[in-house]
Amino acid sequence: MKVVLKHLYKRFPSRNKDGKEVIAVNDFDFEIPDGKLIGLLGPSGCGKSTTLNLISGLEKASDGRIFFGEDDVTDLPPERRGVGLVFQNYALYPHLTVRNNIIFPLQNLKGKDKMTKEAMYAKADEVAKLVQIESYMDRKPSELSGGQQQRVAIARALVKVPKVLLLDEPLSNLDARLRLQTREEIRRIQRNTGVTTIFVTHDQEEAMSISDLIVVMKDGTIQQIDKPQNVYDNPVNLFVAKFLGTPPINVFEGEVKGGRLFIGDQDVLAMKNVDDRKVWVGVRPEGFILDENGPLVCDLTAVEIMGRDTSVVSTHPAFTGVQIRSIIDTAENKVDQDAEKVRFSLKPYKVHIFDHETEERILVEG
Ligand code: ADP
Ligand code: MG
Repeated sequence: MKVVLKHLYKRFPSRNKDGKEVIAVNDFDFEIPDGKLIGLLGPSGCGKSTTLNLISGLEKASDGRIFFGEDDVTDLPPERRGVGLVFQNYALYPHLTVRNNIIFPLQNLKGKDKMTKEAMYAKADEVAKLVQIESYMDRKPSELSGGQQQRVAIARALVKVPKVLLLDEPLSNLDARLRLQTREEIRRIQRNTGVTTIFVTHDQEEAMSISDLIVVMKDGTIQQIDKPQNVYDNPVNLFVAKFLGTPPINVFEGEVKGGRLFIGDQDVLAMKNVDDRKVWVGVRPEGFILDENGPLVCDLTAVEIMGRDTSVVSTHPAFTGVQIRSIIDTAENKVDQDAEKVRFSLKPYKVHIFDHETEERILVEG
C-alpha cells in the first residue's frame, strides 16, 4: 500500500513565553512507495514522531491530506486506518502471556471480522514464527529480554495484517548488540511480509542500514529524500552532509579562486566551472590519501590502528571542528607516528563544497 502525503502540516500552539507556534511538520509532500521500508531521519525535535502520528491518526493534521493507496484517510480515526504501531517502549500488557498480547488486537473485531479463539491462536502462531518468538508464547513479558519484547510488539502490530507498519524509534531501548540484531530482524520481517513500513530514528547508521529510502528532516522541513547511498554521496546541503556518516564529514573553511579550491592557502583541488567565492569544504574521512607531497598539510595528533582501518587524527587552522579524522587502509599506512605534520591529497568525489551563506551544496562538473 503506497502512502501519499499532500502538503501536510502540523502546527502546535506555543509552549513557551514567546507565543510562537511550532510547525512540527511543514509542507510534507511526498510518496512512500508500496512495499518499501522508508526511514524518517533527523535530530530530536525535528518532527519525526509527529509525522508518524499524523499517518496513524493519533494526531490530526492542521492542513493537507494523507492517502493510503487511492483512499483519503485524513479524517479517519486510527482504528479505521489499518496501521500497525510499534513504539520505543514495548508497551506490552505485563499480566498477559506473549500469546495473549499478540492476539489482543484481534479480540475486539466485530461482525464478519470476528474470529474464533482457534483462528486467533493460529494467526498468533503464524506471526510469532515470523518474528521468531514461537517458543516463548506462554511466557509473560517480564520473562523476556528487551529484544524479545520488542519482537512481541512487532508481532502484535502485524497480527491484523496492517496496510502500513509504523515504527517509532523501536530499537532505542535495546543495548548495542541487540539493536544491531533486531534491526536486521525488522528488515527481514519487512521483506517477508512486503508491508509498507515507516521507520523513525535519529540514528543515521540505523537509517542507512535498514531503509530503501531515507527522508532527512530538520526543524519540521524535509531536506532530502533519496536512497541511503545517494544521500551519503550527494548531500544537498551541509546539514545533510554532516548528519550522515561516522566518523562525520570533515568541514573546512575554503575558497574557490581561479578554478582552484583552497583550504587556507593550500591549493588542494581543481574546481572547474565554479566562480570565485568563499565556501565550506566537506571531506569524507575516506577521502584523504596519504601523500608526502600532498597539498593539504595538517598537524598530526594521533594514529589509531583499528584492525583493517587506520584513523589518522590531525588538526588544521582552517578546520571548523576539533579534530580531523581520516580513515585509511591499515595496509597502506605509512604514517610516522612521531612526525609533526601529515600531508594528504584528496579524492575529488569525496569532497563536497557548500555555499558559505546558504550552506547549499555547489555542484561541480566533471
Ligand atoms: P521528534 O520525534 O523528531 O523528536 P516530535 O515530532 O516529537 O519530534 O516534535 C516536533 C516538534 O513539535 C518539537 O518542537 C516538539 O516540541 C513539538 N511538539 C510535539 N508535540 C507537541 C505538542 N503536543 N504540543 C506542542 N508542541 C509539540
Ligand atoms: Mg520522536
